[in-house]
Amino acid sequence: MLLTKIPTGILKNDPDRYLEIDVGEGEDYEYGFHRMEIVRTRKSRHCLRGQNEHASGTYMIKETALVDGKAATCYLCIPCADRYLAFEDGEEDERGDEINPHNYFCDGTRRDVPRPVGL
Ligand SMILES: [Zn+2]
Repeated sequence: MLLTKIPTGILKNDPDRYLEIDVGEGEDYEYGFHRMEIVRTRKSRHCLRGQNEHASGTYMIKETALVDGKAATCYLCIPCADRYLAFEDGEEDERGDEINPHNYFCDGTRRDVPRPVGL
């Protein structure tokens, strides 16, 4: 999906940054094959950071890489992706703790619906 097709309000950060998240955490991708894109899911999918599925139609980051020579995909929801970016930026939560995506278990709740301005 073209980044410009994503409705405003869903991505909190610069769209290009989502495609640079190090989902594999320093992994050497087999044959250098690695693809990141933002998709709107056609089936329910669980996020890399949790086991509960996000409903179909959720915007998620899709990572495709080769595992043992075969294409394997995983998905990361936008709120979890925002946590990765917050971690990169050294942001803190409301309690003053560093935001760390690894301390967070994704509950699969759909939170990518744009909120009305002012809430
Ligand atoms: Zn998630």
